[in-house]
Amino acid sequence: MEWTIKNYINGKFKSPVEDQWASNIDPARNKPIGKVPLSNAKDVENAIISAERAFPAWSNTTAEHRSEILRRIAQEIKTQLETLAEAESIDNGKPITLARKIDIPRAASNFNFFADAITQFDTKAHEMYAAKAINLSLRHPHGVVACISPWNLPLYLFTWKIAPALATGNCVVAKPSEITPLTAYLLSRICEKVGLPAGVLNIVHGHGDQAGDALIKHKLVKAITFTGGTATGKTIASSASPQFKKLSLEMGGKNPNIIFTDCDYDKMLETTIRSSFANQGQICLCGSRIFIEQPIYERFKADFLKKVDQLKIGNPLDENVDFGALVSAEHLKKVEGYCDMARKDDQADIIYGGKRIKVKDLEDGFYFSPTVIEVRSNQCVINQEEIFGPVVSLMPFDTEDEVLELANDSPYGLSASVWTTNINKAMRCGQRLESGVIWINTWLKRDLRTPFGGMKSSGMGREGGLDALHFFTEPKNICIDYN
Ligand code: NAD
Repeated sequence: MEWTIKNYINGKFKSPVEDQWASNIDPARNKPIGKVPLSNAKDVENAIISAERAFPAWSNTTAEHRSEILRRIAQEIKTQLETLAEAESIDNGKPITLARKIDIPRAASNFNFFADAITQFDTKAHEMYAAKAINLSLRHPHGVVACISPWNLPLYLFTWKIAPALATGNCVVAKPSEITPLTAYLLSRICEKVGLPAGVLNIVHGHGDQAGDALIKHKLVKAITFTGGTATGKTIASSASPQFKKLSLEMGGKNPNIIFTDCDYDKMLETTIRSSFANQGQICLCGSRIFIEQPIYERFKADFLKKVDQLKIGNPLDENVDFGALVSAEHLKKVEGYCDMARKDDQADIIYGGKRIKVKDLEDGFYFSPTVIEVRSNQCVINQEEIFGPVVSLMPFDTEDEVLELANDSPYGLSASVWTTNINKAMRCGQRLESGVIWINTWLKRDLRTPFGGMKSSGMGREGGLDALHFFTEPKNICIDYN
């Protein structure tokens, strides 16, 4: 089936005003599966105006009412799980099993979580007892907010932003990645079906430097939440900051995975395969720099390579496949370019993969081998720049101090994993690592109440739980004197 994706503006499905479209490509086959609008500033303006008009009524609904609508969206996502999982897999190249187990259920959880959270969200009173005054510290929605998301976890991250924005009473103009627009479009159909009032959520498709740029610069947009690359985050910050818009930026990572000799070895090995290559390494939280304590370095290397070799690479729609296609031809070229650089670098040796692969009957698809590179310096390009693909490096270390210095020697600070059964060592590492999200003896275990986000060039602000509800509301203090 060929999809014609439409913008969702004021509750209606619209073609872009200038009738400009791009092909939406299935990366597993390098074949078009439909077309996506290339919206311009006029489409974005229409969406913003519709959100602005919907805001007074939506922000005046009760929290229970908004919660109920969010629940209906969640329920419909669950009902359509198979359709959405297949669409996500075809659009992105990810194994359908992953979309079915992680991406789509998490999208439903995002709506249910914030449907619950908003009914428990309270405001504060600060009493000045002796002065006979009381402060009512209130929180109000901003109005129109922008949600911009990337291609790696398309529906998962898109809904992670939209759900808290709607729950707190804002109206939204959202822009998914132009590379993976399909499930965002299916979400707009779900919103129409469950009766979300027109204009409360508007979804505009198109390129970042056109539709995205028009969205972040528009004067009616009060807050912007963005997930994507650090360079794009910088551009958005430089455009939006002079207008003093509220900003939340979730950006790139180069996450350390630290393995001590005293770890639970089997659990570590199993998890490290996932944290290296899940979604073909295209998860911002993947541990792409693996540091192994010297006494188990050779054992780990041999066992890890054996497991990498067992990964089943192929058609993402095949139920038995662990590892699908990279998202686009451009991204494939970027990953390949880094491997070419590693080949020329005397501080790095590719010991597994490093090349494109052909999958039977899908020879034109964007497949790249899982890749393991031994590095002798954390300063080499492979360890300093985000590749965002199926490429990990291995490097031995001797002491705790040394590995913490290596781990923190990065412009990024998104997440880190530490493998040790020594609780004191685990805590020392947790406290000294410069990362916003730290996992001890696990990876990707998420509680949606916890603050999520990165330090340094990985992010500004936090998402999740109360942090998201605070981001989408403006505090206001009213002081009443009752003398
Ligand atoms: P990207 O920055 O190219 O695009 C992200 C989104 O921003 C897209 O919707 C794009 O159209 C839009 N955009 C691009 N230029 C814009 C502009 N000038 N103004 C407004 N919008 C613009 O990122 P990507 O390639 O889609 O995603 C990969 C990146 O996302 C990686 O760096 C990865 O680490 C990061 N990521 C971070 C997290 C996190 O939580 N920190 C999660 C997932 C992905």
